[in-house]
Amino acid sequence: MEVIEIFRSWQGEGPHASKEAIFLRLARCNLRCAWCDTKYSWLGGTNMGVDAVSRRLIEVGGDEVKHLVITGGEPLLWWRELKQLLTVVKGKGWFVEVETNGTLRPGELLDYVDEFNVSPKLSNLGVPLRYRVNETALRYFVSSGKAIFKFVVDKPEDANKVLWFIKRFGIPRGKVYLMSQCITREECIAKDEGITKPMAVKLGVNFTPRLHVLMGFR
Ligand code: SF4
Repeated sequence: MEVIEIFRSWQGEGPHASKEAIFLRLARCNLRCAWCDTKYSWLGGTNMGVDAVSRRLIEVGGDEVKHLVITGGEPLLWWRELKQLLTVVKGKGWFVEVETNGTLRPGELLDYVDEFNVSPKLSNLGVPLRYRVNETALRYFVSSGKAIFKFVVDKPEDANKVLWFIKRFGIPRGKVYLMSQCITREECIAKDEGITKPMAVKLGVNFTPRLHVLMGFR
């Protein structure tokens, strides 16, 4: 698989925000979102075998951290390799989160992943609907019971776009998280307070901060 980076930090978003974790960032993505903050992952990474990756994860995690966040790019492009990797990692008792844009089914990964953080893209990202929404994949994630759904919002009118996903795919509101589109701490605080938290209250869903931006960790 092509690896961009492996590092130890804290999960900054979603239900496990503030949990210390090892991050495995894989290369390549099937989308090209305008606001992508990991464009450096699009062009490819370092080829590493499953054994080398699992050794490195265990080395970085030491005996202390057994929480893995697999991110990208779009990590489900590598589901075959991840199945082999997670066979090893789950055997050592690790908790595994996989972050995905929700356009690909997870293949045979379902049994090896504790939580999918599915982040469907709204129309404000400049990607046509036929590329950013895979109805079969989204219904699969909803029915798996292992997914939470994270939406990046930028304007009050994004509420209707989120509502469209909730209604069309029957996503339980308790599994929906709204997060601000922001790059700096000041921008995050302004949008969290002015747009995202009120929208979460209005829709009856969760708000999640971007702790890595607010607190300055990686
Ligand atoms: S799906 Fe994620 S990694 Fe891929 S282009 Fe969009 S924001 Fe970037």
